This record gives sequence, structure tokens and C-alpha cells, in this order.
Amino acid sequence: MSTLLIKNGTVIDPSQGLQSRRDVLIEDGRIIRLEPSIHQSVDQTIDATGQFVTPGLIDIHVHFREPGDEEEETIASGSAAAVAGGFTTVCCMPNTKPALDNEAQIEFVLRESERVGLANVLAVGAITKAREGKELAELASMHQRGAIAFSDDGVGVNDSSVMRRALQYIRMFDGLIMQHCEDHQLSGGGNARRGSQHPDRDARYSCRSRATDDCKGHYSEP
Ligand SMILES: [Zn+2]
Repeated sequence: MSTLLIKNGTVIDPSQGLQSRRDVLIEDGRIIRLEPSIHQSVDQTIDATGQFVTPGLIDIHVHFREPGDEEEETIASGSAAAVAGGFTTVCCMPNTKPALDNEAQIEFVLRESERVGLANVLAVGAITKAREGKELAELASMHQRGAIAFSDDGVGVNDSSVMRRALQYIRMFDGLIMQHCEDHQLSGGGNARRGSQHPDRDARYSCRSRATDDCKGHYSEP
């Protein structure tokens, strides 16, 4: 039996509506006591003064770049970064090279995640083949293999008839679509701006609206 005591942290637990200073006693990986102050001899104590103690965080939109751009990130390095930041579950976007648009690609992500054994790495499959917005990808077989949702991340499905077919199709298994909301007819290849023309504000509010394979720019708004 191994025991771990996390002391003096601010525990946030939405399931109990709790945000308060608590000590947490963990035995063999299970929380067995959660009290304002616990004094007990344990194998390991962590002083979490000034820190938050929370359930594992979930990031529903990550880019682990594998396969295709392993020099930027891999499932292993991304998982290590996730758990270092408190994220125990992450959802990999499908804009890899090749895109996660079939069962074999989904299988690869899940197997590699299992091999790494850090965070729960979930896979989001592409809505259309190669994320080109033209032909539906293998939605049902990806779902069966474990894809938790579908997105052409980085580009929106701009053909309404394709999107309609995708939405009709996923109803068969109560699937989920995470649409990248961008109308290419409007965005063209330009830049969208909002707010005043003050240089500092411009920097904060500018965002790339051109379709790219990387949507970091879309998070630049405060
Ligand atoms: Zn993205």
C-alpha cells in the first residue's frame, strides 16, 4: 500500500461545488480522505501551498502533429506536456499528415497513446477525406474504432450539402461534429480585425482568417 498526502492546496472539485483549502489523502491511487487538515504518517507528502488541486483537466483541442510533423510534436511529447500541466485527457485534432480520416489512422493514435501511457489521448477524425471538404471520410468505421468526434480542424466544411450529409450520417450513431467555423467566401485570404486601430490592440485582436492547417491564431482574442 502506498500513501500520498497533498497538503495546503486549494481543492477545486466541481462535482461537489467545492473550492476551498483542503488536504487530500490518497491511498493506492484512490482519494480516501478530503479534509481541512490531515495529520498522518504517509509515504510521500506534497506541499501544495498556493496551488490548485483539481481533477484531471481535459483539453478538447490539441495538435500532437503525429503522424507527419514529428519534429514539432509527437504523441509522446504532447502527452508529457499535457500531464505536466495537469491535463489528463486530450483530444487530438485530425490535421496531421496524412489526416486522421480513416480507421487505421485513429487506431494508430490510440495505440501510440497506449504505448506512451501518460494522458488519455482521444482521437478526433476528419469529417471529409484529406480534410478537403469534398467527400465524406469513413465516419462510421472511425467511430467504431474510437474516434470521439469529427472535425476538418483548420478548415471549415464549406459545402453545405457535404456538411448536411455528414450531420445526417453521424445521427446513425449519435456522433459529434466539431466544425471549424469559417466561410472561405467571406474570409478569402485576408485578415479579420476588430476594435480600435491602436497598435497594441491590433496585435491583440488580429487573427488569421485564412484557412491554414494550424488554428493557433484563432485563440488570440481575449
Ligand atoms: Zn486546431
